[in-house]
This record gives sequence, structure tokens and C-alpha cells, in this order.
Amino acid sequence: ASEIGQDDKEEVRDYFTNTGFGRWNKIYSDDDSVNAVQKDIREGHAKTVETILSWVDEDGDAQGQTFCDAGCGVGSLAIPLASRGAVVTASDISPTMAAEAQRRAAEELPASSAALTTFQTSDLCDLSGFYDTVACVDVMIHYPQEDVNEMISALSALAKRRLIVSFAPKTLAYSLLKKVGEFFPGPSKATRAYLHAESDVVAALEAEGWTIKRRGSTASKFYFSNVLEAVREA
Ligand code: SAM
Repeated sequence: ASEIGQDDKEEVRDYFTNTGFGRWNKIYSDDDSVNAVQKDIREGHAKTVETILSWVDEDGDAQGQTFCDAGCGVGSLAIPLASRGAVVTASDISPTMAAEAQRRAAEELPASSAALTTFQTSDLCDLSGFYDTVACVDVMIHYPQEDVNEMISALSALAKRRLIVSFAPKTLAYSLLKKVGEFFPGPSKATRAYLHAESDVVAALEAEGWTIKRRGSTASKFYFSNVLEAVREA
């Protein structure tokens, strides 16, 4: 089990189980009652997911491959992966998120694809198993760099050949934006947001023996995320 960052984890789990669940469940949907900030975040996040799916599609290798989606939220990545024939194990530290992902998978996927998915509640640092690909999307933003290093190490132990992680890049402009407190939508800024230097994330991946193969970046007014695909060199 993880030693550090327990306070951060408790806070993040409570947020995404309660207040944050409703807010993010709505952002990650097509409910048109979202405000302009939430809509911007929805569209930015959709681009990050599309980037990852475009890599998977370019490689043409989802069918029959095992994927672990750690911090799966409502299943925005897990569900399209399963629809491509991947065997998906998705988990989230928030039980309400994991349950919503499972509900959506049952609703949106044909029974044959839904049968390829498993959803569970778990801190990503406590996961076990060994998967062709491990993905962890827009989760690192909730943790400081030392926790991110530990998370990358935990995720690396689960990943056979590919690890996909996204994070909010630390740039001057975004550091200022975060300072003005515009980062989280709605009146309650209930979670802290941490930005990470890409060089720190790459260093953590390289320390675990990964090589960066592809990079993507999405930036809009209120959403910014860089995504890295790391592979093990044969
Ligand atoms: N990956 C999803 C996506 O891109 O649609 C969800 C992103 S959402 C911003 C962050 C998610 O990470 C939340 O559902 C939260 O509960 C989950 N999370 C935060 N810390 C976690 C941890 N230590 N282990 C597993 N999930 C975690």
C-alpha cells in the first residue's frame, strides 16, 4: 500500500464521491445544462481521449488486448476501448465514479463488449495484475510530484508494453491561471490542482525503463493536458 499522500487521497476520494461526482459526471456527458467553463473542459477532455484512441487505432491493436484504466472516472476511455474489442479493467478511487462507469458501460455497449469490462473501486497504487496497456488520464493533476513519482512506479509494475499518462503541464501562463483560481469549474474549488513539469514526468517514466513514443497536448481556456505514450523497448 501507498505510504505518502494519504491526506491528498482522502480529500480527492471524498470530493469525487460526493460534490465532485455530480459536477464531473455532468461535464463528462452530453447534458447541455453545463456552463461555458464546464463545456470548455468537456471539449478539451474529449480531445485528450480522442488523441489516445487515435494512437490505439493507428496501431490497430485494441482487439483482444488487455487494458487497465486507472482512475477511470465515468469510463470515458474504458468504454470506447471495450467497443474496440479490448479487455478492459477499469478502476477508480471513488466508488460513485466506478459505479457510474459500470452503469454507462452496460447502457452504451453491446452485451458482448460490456462483458469485456470489469469495474472496481481502488486506489491506483493498490492495483494488481499485468496488462498490455495501462492508462491513467487526468488523474495526476490531483497530486504533487512526489506522489506522481510513486504512482508512475505503481502503474509501471502493472504494464507490459505501454503506459499512457496525462498531466497538466506546468507553464508560466497556467501557473498564473491556477493562482487566479479559475481552474476548477463552479463556485466550490473543492480540490487542489497540481501542475507538473513535463521533464519531471518524463524522468519518472524513464526511471522505470520507459521510452516516450508519442506525445499529445490539448489546451483550451480552462482545460490543458499533455499526454505521453511510453513503451518498453524490445
Ligand atoms: N480518467 C478519467 C477521464 O479522463 O475521464 C477521469 C478523470 S477525473 C478528472 C479524475 C479521476 O481520478 C476521478 O474519477 C478520481 O476519483 C480519480 N482518482 C483520483 N485519485 C485516484 C487514485 N489515487 N486512484 C484511482 N483513482 C483516482
